[in-house]
Amino acid sequence: MLHAVLGGPRNIEYREAPIPIPEAGQVLVEVKRIGVCGSDIHVYHGRHKYAVFPLVQGHEGSGLVVQTGPDVTNVCIGDRVTLRPQLYCGECRLCREGRYNLCEDYKVIGVLGGTTGMASEYFLTDASKLHRLPDGLDYDAGAMIEPLAVAVHSIRLGQRYHDGNILILGAGPIGNLVGQAAKGMGARSVMITDINPFRLDIAKKCGIDHIVNTATEDLETAIVTHYGRDRADVILDCAATTGTMDQSVKSARRGTNIVTVGNFYDKVPVELGLTQRREINIIGAMNYVSEDYAEAISLLNAGKVKIGDLISAYFGLQDYPAAYQYIDENSNTVMKVLIKVRD
Ligand SMILES: [Zn+2]
Ligand SMILES: [Zn+2]
Repeated sequence: MLHAVLGGPRNIEYREAPIPIPEAGQVLVEVKRIGVCGSDIHVYHGRHKYAVFPLVQGHEGSGLVVQTGPDVTNVCIGDRVTLRPQLYCGECRLCREGRYNLCEDYKVIGVLGGTTGMASEYFLTDASKLHRLPDGLDYDAGAMIEPLAVAVHSIRLGQRYHDGNILILGAGPIGNLVGQAAKGMGARSVMITDINPFRLDIAKKCGIDHIVNTATEDLETAIVTHYGRDRADVILDCAATTGTMDQSVKSARRGTNIVTVGNFYDKVPVELGLTQRREINIIGAMNYVSEDYAEAISLLNAGKVKIGDLISAYFGLQDYPAAYQYIDENSNTVMKVLIKVRD
């Protein structure tokens, strides 16, 4: 089988490898789609703090079960599946509490060193990391479950989403999915900000209630206009810039929950005194757990989240470098690029 090995920054080599044979508890998946995400782009360019080369990328993926080892009970040959790409010890304090996304030995398959992602014709995994796709969801949708699960997890951590006013900073793929998922999970109203009109247009198309271009509009005015003095119950920072975190804290009402969803690459100064006086909670959100996958699958299957407008382009497995080039050259208009490994 062919697999794409990232030997170092911007250096993808295609290598042949034997198709792995599943052992007890393992499953062989014929890979169909792989989503390229922001963290992949950082790893590809050598900008990711924790990436170690060589690495086979691909952590947002879907495929077909073609072989199962002994003792596999949750999936069968012929099932269409999506991968939950997390490795954890199962024994540390947080694993024992079910918060294995915070495991002391946590790794995301295809992002962190020592793991092998799905950028390959076939992928071997523990059966426990697979979730079956219902009949209504195709492989494209299957590749979007992982980022949607990130969105679901962050909304749950924000707690006050039900019948709440939501403010999302950043209308990229994750911000968009957070917005759609929040509505699907019962939010009363969702406002999203960005400085990129293209991304805001897509958010509008996806049914987000209030679109605010903070390059030309004042956020404070928008909040008061649409939400009145109640303001936002939950603020989710999906842009993760110095500016957006400062905006989050300054625009938070008393008792607001602020969830940090994006990856911050710089130290961010905020007016911490406000969080004390206003009892503002700043909550970090890291990936997801299995229940978030289940909710993501059910939101997509119920049509409450739509991904059609989020997919910008498809590339073949052999065209990974071209996919990254496309992303670089179209950074203002790219939402999600999918690698179509097989029909
Ligand atoms: Zn990702
Ligand atoms: Zn652990």
